[in-house]
Amino acid sequence: MLGRRDVPPVLLLLLLIILILLTLSQILVVHHGRFRATVRGRGRGRTELRRLDINLQQLLHQNVPSIDTHRKLLQNERNEARIRNILHRASEGTIQISNRTASNQRCPLIPPNLFGPIRVNTTTQSSDRASEELEFGGSWRPKDCIARHKVAVIIPYRDRKEHLTILLSYLHPILQRQQLDYRLFVVEQFGIQTFNKARIMNVAFIEAAKVYSSSCVVFHDVDLIPEDDRNMYSCPEQPRHMSVAIDEMGYKLAYEELVGGVLAMRNEHFELVNGYSNLYWGWGAEDDDIAYRILYSGLVISRPPTRIARYKMVKHTKRKPSDWRKRIRLLYTGTRRLQYDGLNSVQYKLLSTKLHDSYTHFLVDIGKPPQGF
Ligand code: UDP
Ligand code: MN
Repeated sequence: MLGRRDVPPVLLLLLLIILILLTLSQILVVHHGRFRATVRGRGRGRTELRRLDINLQQLLHQNVPSIDTHRKLLQNERNEARIRNILHRASEGTIQISNRTASNQRCPLIPPNLFGPIRVNTTTQSSDRASEELEFGGSWRPKDCIARHKVAVIIPYRDRKEHLTILLSYLHPILQRQQLDYRLFVVEQFGIQTFNKARIMNVAFIEAAKVYSSSCVVFHDVDLIPEDDRNMYSCPEQPRHMSVAIDEMGYKLAYEELVGGVLAMRNEHFELVNGYSNLYWGWGAEDDDIAYRILYSGLVISRPPTRIARYKMVKHTKRKPSDWRKRIRLLYTGTRRLQYDGLNSVQYKLLSTKLHDSYTHFLVDIGKPPQGF
């Protein structure tokens, strides 16, 4: 047997050096491989981002009216639509003198019949019934007093029928107990192209205002069910993020700029920030984008207390997130595009407007994402 003492020290040293060299070369090979992959990835990423920039540039060159001009054009369009509507109903003989109880009393500041916390089961419809018949198209207002708030609720939608049925069953009774003058709009993206929630919400805002004149809009994910009717669906002085505490997120606000889920804004503020960006195809960041628009425009994000602003989320499979590089890039350059990417540049075709018993349904074609998305 050879003892340690029998191996010459030079040989031991040599062995050690060989070992070190081998390890070093391994590290180098792996690192180099990774490095090359990153460079290749970066190259591809850069090309895609360049393409994205070209798309944005094209948008710039489309001669988009300024936010202010667009707002005036929109106002004209709304007025025209309302007059057309009145003339149409007059010619049909459907305009009637309302047989509602005349009252010139404003509703109380605090609605008197609120329940407070509501037990929500996201797998079934609410057993709570709306107190009265809705008007066609999902609108309602209190009979015995004049509502203090007139609100359009906009629900972005595609292929979530079950969620919608459950939400409607909970929402109508709550909005009625809150004594609001309200109308629910469901905006559905036509086709199977990547979903673009922000774009269809912009469309719904424009189209809703032509058939229902309100000064407050609430954007409402279809899968969030309110758990407390003291969370008012109205628009205070500043934009209000209403879905502060969601069961899925441990009833905690994930970050300070979060406005996703349920967001209430005065129309004038939504127009001021030029609505949502139209460029977010697929899941993610469109809500953060409008949060930055809000802050950039000198507004603040207000929130009701966490114990009231509670929601349960109907379970669903997560959508595949969009490419995070594009998302982040869009987000970081978002406020630079505020002037020309939003309400004043949204392109769409309104395929149909249907008045259902409990909501007004817009079906819109917003085309498909540009190349590279
Ligand atoms: N949505 C929809 N159909 C879809 C994707 C999204 O109706 O295929 C709407 C729906 O209102 C939903 C919202 O967009 O609540 C947000 O999407 P999602 O629930 O997938 O995202 P999350 O907020 O849960 O991450
Ligand atoms: Mn969801």
